[in-house]
Formats: sequence, C-alpha cells, structure tokens
Amino acid sequence: MKLDDKAMDMINKALKEFGATDRVKKMEAGFGGGKCPKHIVDFYIRDKNYFAFLMGTIYNQQMPAEHVWAIPYNLFKILGHLDPLKISNMSVRDILSLFDKLPRKPRYPPQMAQQTIEGAKKIINEYRGNVENLWADNPTCSQVQKRFEDFKGIGQKKAAMATETLVKKFNIPLRDRSGLDIAVDSLVIRVFKRCGFVDQEDKNLVILKARELNPEYPGILDRPCWEIGRSYCFPTNPDCNNCPIGDVCLRRI
Ligand code: SF4
Repeated sequence: MKLDDKAMDMINKALKEFGATDRVKKMEAGFGGGKCPKHIVDFYIRDKNYFAFLMGTIYNQQMPAEHVWAIPYNLFKILGHLDPLKISNMSVRDILSLFDKLPRKPRYPPQMAQQTIEGAKKIINEYRGNVENLWADNPTCSQVQKRFEDFKGIGQKKAAMATETLVKKFNIPLRDRSGLDIAVDSLVIRVFKRCGFVDQEDKNLVILKARELNPEYPGILDRPCWEIGRSYCFPTNPDCNNCPIGDVCLRRI
C-alpha cells in the first residue's frame, strides 16, 4: 500500500515533533551526540582541530560517540601533534603501536591505521596539507559531503554527519543547507520502510525521499528516526504501542 501525500505529511510532522522533544534535542547538544566531556568538545570546536575531526569521522564505527572522539584527543596527547604531514609518513605499524597506548582503540585497528595514513596523504596531496581547504572555496553542503565521501573509511552516513557537524557545531558557513542530507543507517532505513515512506530497504531511496519530504533540510529526520529505530522499531517485536509515531505509522512489518 502506498501512502498518500496527506498521510506522508502526518508522519513527517510526527517525526519532526518527536525530533523537537528534549529527549531527541539533547542528542544534538554538544559534540558527538552530547556525551563527550567538555575538554574533548573544546579540543575540537574551540581549538579547531580539524584534522582530529577528520580522524574521528573515520574512526566513528560501531563505538559509542564519547569513545570515538576521545581517540584523536588521546593520540594528540601521546604524539604532541596531529600533523597530517608527519602522520602521512608513518607506517601502519607505527599507528598500530600508537593505538596500543590508547585507553580504547578504534574498531578494526589495521584498517583504521591504513585509513589514517591515507587520509593524511589525501590532505597533503589534495588540500595543501590543511583540512580547512575542504571548504575554503565557499562550497555547498553537498559538495563538502562528497569531498568527505572521497576519503577511505567515510561513507554516506559519516559524510552527512560530518557536514552537519561542520555547519551546526563549528559554524562553518557552507552554502545551500538544503544539501544537508539525512545520515542513513539500518535504523533509519527500517523506520522509513515500515512507516511507508519507501517501498524497499534501499539507502538511495531513503536519501531521495528525505529530500522530497523536507527540501529545506533533509537531515532533519535522521535523529528522530534513529531514536525510534533504536528504542521502538526493533527488527522483531517492535514496540508500536509506545512508539512516538505509532498513531500515524503504516506499520509495514
Ligand atoms: S515501532 Fe511500529 S509504529 Fe513505530 S515506526 Fe516501527 S513499525 Fe512504525
């Protein structure tokens, strides 16, 4: 069954209302979902450690945010720098031995070590050694997201989140915020499919539908959908009775 426009509007509205609740807004407050301690937030935002931010974006995989963002911070403490040129000249073995000194290593250490070096090389070779050159030419949000996606280890979800963080937390004035896409993961896809927004569990369909629903800011639905996917819309036995959009969802389970 396809949703008509009115039903789609009602679900979109219910999701945005849930997104405006303190519970979901709190997830946006602060760096990395609001769970990072202040000294780590300051390390990124106040001190403008953009290469550390790029590294954290690469490491942001299957770990709680507060652990992810602590990794570049602790590497900086160990090394005394996060200089892309010096890091680009390190070996995988060098990086792995640094990871061994961390309170918590990233997931998949050999892969992350390789991606760290490749990311540093890309910054040296394509951005004149400065991460800020990713957005120095007054690009749109979409252009910056694509540039992030060109780094090994950064897919659509991480790139969309990184672009949104640049705009919302670092206050980088990127053009055309209608290009702030939804950050798609399995939770968001499941909610989009079950509520009736899309017919198939397909990442690209979700991105297109999010743009169609909220062209001024397609990413507005990612946190409410993520929270619903995590807390109610379980793969089996979803808790539809308590779900914030339970009254309007098509419940295509
Ligand atoms: S939990 Fe139920 S009501 Fe909520 S989004 Fe999933 S299928 Fe819809």
